[in-house]
Parts: sequence; structure tokens; C-alpha cells
Amino acid sequence: MDLAGKTVLVTGASSGLGLHFSKMLADNGAHVVLGARRIDAIEEAAEAIRCAAGQARTIALDVTDSASVQQAFETYPDVSVVINNAGIAPSAAALDLEEAEFERVMTTNLKGVLLVAQGAARQMRERGTGGSIVNIASITGLRVAGQLAAYATSKAAVIQLTKVLALEWARYGIRVNALCPGYIETPLNAEFFATEAGKALVNRIPQRRLGRPGELDGPLLLLASDAGSYITGTTLVADGGHLISSL
Ligand code: NAD
Repeated sequence: MDLAGKTVLVTGASSGLGLHFSKMLADNGAHVVLGARRIDAIEEAAEAIRCAAGQARTIALDVTDSASVQQAFETYPDVSVVINNAGIAPSAAALDLEEAEFERVMTTNLKGVLLVAQGAARQMRERGTGGSIVNIASITGLRVAGQLAAYATSKAAVIQLTKVLALEWARYGIRVNALCPGYIETPLNAEFFATEAGKALVNRIPQRRLGRPGELDGPLLLLASDAGSYITGTTLVADGGHLISSL
């Protein structure tokens, strides 16, 4: 699952899974471009990757802003893999969900994925090289959880968008797939999973534990690299069996 010499753009690379993916992709030979709004955080991460003999560069990127997305692809005209990872996951009861909050989630999680995918695909089509786009969705796009009306809806839409883009862009050699992680432990959610509610949730996962970021590496590399050259429009779930938990 070699990515040697390929330029891979990771969005939302300053923290959590995006940061983890950036390091892992560099370890697998990719020339990683870390994209995030906070350039200072990714500069530091890119420097750490370079110190470990990896290839990493950075770009200030707000996925909700088409000018920012366009600037990123003008700066890096050789992107052949995109990891559409940026996302937000606020929770609220549906009756309390404010219009502005709903729009913020859809704009980041859905419009952001579309803008970045379009920017990449235009470049890939022009170059005639094809490429791979991996959209990070979620198991909440396939099965619901309370308090997540906006988030779950946005991720379901990402899964459907992935299929349409795969259908339209296969003729250009561009593959588009969705990766649906279950609950993965990151610094941001560690506190919640230490609570009683968090522990109860973990007990409902057939494997009785959270996923580790490293357990997404294989699935991500499969979809991103030529190892998955005949895979497009698919939704790959890595969730410890959460989606098949007993009713
Ligand atoms: P995180 O909050 O650590 O990472 C999300 C990143 O996206 C942050 O760095 C944030 O700054 C960035 N971001 C947000 N809005 C942005 C914008 N407009 N432009 C550019 N970057 C922006 O959370 P995470 O857990 O690492 O999540 C990463 C992705 O994985 C998200 O799409 C999330 O929905 C998905 N996911 C996470 C889990 C999990 O358990 N951690 C499970 C399923 C799916």
C-alpha cells in the first residue's frame, strides 16, 4: 500500500485523526500537505514529520471557503490523493437545534467535502492522472444516535455524495470512497468516555472497546492507495462491530 512520491492533501490536519493520518501517510511515503485553519499547529506537525525523514508541507485551509480551497489547489497543483477529514460534531437535542448551528455543521461537514473534492477532481481531470478521494464519514451516517441530528444527517449526506462523485468521476480515473469510523479515542473525546454514559456506550460495542486511531490506518491506506484501484463509491466501516450491535 505504497504512496511513495504521491502528494496527499489532508484537511483538518491540526488535531485528532487528521494529525494522525498525516503522520501515518508520510510514514508510508506520501508527500503530505497538511491543511488547517490554524497554520501554527500544522507547521509544528509538519516539522515533526520532516524530522522523522518524512515529506510534509502546509497550507492554510478553511474548507467552508471556496476561495481558500481554490488557493490550496493553486499552491499544490499535483495533489493525487485527498483525505477529506475536516469536520465538526456538536451535539444538541433536535428541539433545541438552532438554525445557525445546523447550517454550520452542514457547511463544514458536507459543503466542505464537496468543495475540496471538486478542487481535487478538477486538477486531476486536467492532469489526466486520476486520483483517490477519501471522505471521512461516520457510522452515524448509517445508523442514528440521539443529540446528533445535524451531524448524523451531514455524514449520511457525505456517504450519498461520495457515491454520486464516484459515479461521475470514474471516467477520469478518479476514485471516491467513504470511510466510516465508529467511536475512536482521541484527546477530544477521552473525557466523555471516562464518564458513566461513555462507559455504557462502549459496552454496547460488540468488541467492548473504543477504536484506536491506528486501527483506521489499514482501511485508509486501502482506499487511498493503488491497493484499492478497483474500489470506488464504497463505504468502508471500521467500528468494532458497533453497527451490528444487537437490537
Ligand atoms: P477533531 O475535532 O480533532 O478534528 C477535526 C478537525 O477538523 C480539527 O482539526 C478542526 O480544526 C478541523 N476543522 C473544522 N472545521 C474546519 C474548517 N472549516 N476548515 C478546515 N478544518 C476544519 O475530531 P476528529 O475526531 O479527529 O475527527 C476527524 C474526522 O473524523 C471528522 O470528520 C469526524 O466527523 C470524523 N469521525 C471521528 C470519529 C471519532 O470517534 N473521533 C468517529 C467518526 C468520524
